[in-house]
Amino acid sequence: MGGYDVWDIPSTAFIDPGENWCGVRCPVCGSDIEDWWGDAMDTAALPDGYFDALAVTMPCCSAQTDLNALDYVEAAGFARYSLVTTDPECELPLPPASIQALEDLLGTDLRQVIARY
Ligand SMILES: [Zn+2]
Repeated sequence: MGGYDVWDIPSTAFIDPGENWCGVRCPVCGSDIEDWWGDAMDTAALPDGYFDALAVTMPCCSAQTDLNALDYVEAAGFARYSLVTTDPECELPLPPASIQALEDLLGTDLRQVIARY
């Protein structure tokens, strides 16, 4: 109930929205790339399940980008640290001002991933 955890991840991990997953699109041309994405993730993953190089070439329009920059329909992304709150007592998503305050505090950019499992 409430509270939060800080995950200090030993390497770069993919933070996914669980049951909230709604697919992924090309950030350049907007094509649905979900089928390609699964293979791309398998290719990019290291044997331990973490990630190192994220650079990819889009199958749809040949754009050069990276897996963290894709247009995840429900937010997802790669992280080394994760602030995790379970059963939050406030409305989600957190308002931009709250995210900004956390970013200022931590000195890094944050991405809010709302996961359901
Ligand atoms: Zn594209």
